[in-house]
Amino acid sequence: MTDIPKSHPRYASLVARERVAQGVKNGYTSSQGLIAQGRGECFDYLLGERTTASAERAIAAAAAMLLLAKRPALSVNGNVAALVAEEMVDLAAALGIPLEVNLFHRSEERVRKIADLLRARGAKKVLGEHPDASVPGLDHARALATRGGIYDADVVLIPLEDGDRCEALVAMGKKVIAIDLNPLSRTARKATVSIVDNILRAVPNMAVQVRKLSKLPRADLEKIVLEYDNEKVLRQAVQEIRDHLESSSGEKI
Ligand code: ATP
Ligand code: MG
Repeated sequence: MTDIPKSHPRYASLVARERVAQGVKNGYTSSQGLIAQGRGECFDYLLGERTTASAERAIAAAAAMLLLAKRPALSVNGNVAALVAEEMVDLAAALGIPLEVNLFHRSEERVRKIADLLRARGAKKVLGEHPDASVPGLDHARALATRGGIYDADVVLIPLEDGDRCEALVAMGKKVIAIDLNPLSRTARKATVSIVDNILRAVPNMAVQVRKLSKLPRADLEKIVLEYDNEKVLRQAVQEIRDHLESSSGEKI
């Protein structure tokens, strides 16, 4: 990795960019992943590069939902592997479930490289190398999924996912938790719980919440999920962007 001085005001964002670029060089992130990262950075800037109150609320609801699930599943793609491989392994450990490699631009080589990376970071079990089912409504390569993983899960976490695939999983009757910095994206609009936050902050925060909430009785977790309103949270995320723009520009928006 190139040396980025810690004192640089854009340190975190430069490190993230470097990691995604490295993921492309190492062959586990697709070149389109660079564009996705750029788009994410833009929305993070607009949000003030912080975890907002609405994101905190969505993270708590997501953690409760994953703890209540009969069969939760966690999806990993090339950008997720580049940015939060270790943190996803830790989240899977907190929930005691496997990770599943699930790629939009699938190639067997990329799937294997990501699975190897996750295992090198300590993942006990990684699914996705031998998909045996298809999500209805998507073309073949995009539809591949694994029984015992995403295919028959009741709750799926999809950090950075395409809107169509999010919609197809919802159409199967699953509860879908998305992490997406764009509160206007189709993914954020279609998901059951939309966490509008950078995966760099959201994934470790989710592991903390899972461990904390796992001590609560089921009824308390059910209450958190029942009281959660995704449309309201998305409206709040847009308002948080407006608030940040007003405070940084000094203009009323
Ligand atoms: P839509 O869901 O509207 O179809 P899209 O699929 O065209 O949007 P892409 O650019 O393919 O959008 O997907 C990238 C999405 O992931 C963007 O919405 C972007 O904001 C988000 N994103 C990128 N990097 C991060 C990150 N580090 N953390 C969280 N979200 C991110
Ligand atoms: Mg899309």
